[in-house]
Amino acid sequence: MNNKKTIFLDRDGVINIDKHYLYKIEDFEFTNKLFETCKHFQSLGYQIIVITNQSGIGRGYFSEEDFNKLTTWMIKEFKNNNIDILDVFYCPHEPNDNCECRKPKPGMINEACKKYEIDLNNSWMIGDKPSDIEVAFNAGISNSILINSEYTNNKDEIKTNNIVTTIEETINIIKE
Ligand SMILES: [Mg+2]
Ligand SMILES: [Zn+2]
Repeated sequence: MNNKKTIFLDRDGVINIDKHYLYKIEDFEFTNKLFETCKHFQSLGYQIIVITNQSGIGRGYFSEEDFNKLTTWMIKEFKNNNIDILDVFYCPHEPNDNCECRKPKPGMINEACKKYEIDLNNSWMIGDKPSDIEVAFNAGISNSILINSEYTNNKDEIKTNNIVTTIEETINIIKE
């Protein structure tokens, strides 16, 4: 099998500074050393997929079109830095919708596995909320890293040993 190892990245708080229901290009700020970190992943042979909860759509704070516009721009910025984002999966629903895609449910990762050849055993999920770590667990991704944030106060609830303070530090954990 040619299943490929994959880095699953959360968006807000990982790729960009979390500004809560962000949808405008001018408000989007890439995190420090993000591109260098992604280049490291690519050099190790990983493909990169983004999975992101965007309940701001379901809540009516911004439209799916706003989100898509920002995503197209974001992918181009990655491209300008020689990084390929294989795909972006998003959940537009609000929590009360009880959909199958909102993290920590594994719907988006299941979708990705249907669309692409993915070796979950050698893949990683990187996020800044406990639900990012839970989604890895629920989808069968073997490895996960939590980036400390305002959402990670209760460490007892967190099912990973890998906790860092910046995306750049994941380089010290993902070495092969
Ligand atoms: Mg996040
Ligand atoms: Zn959903």
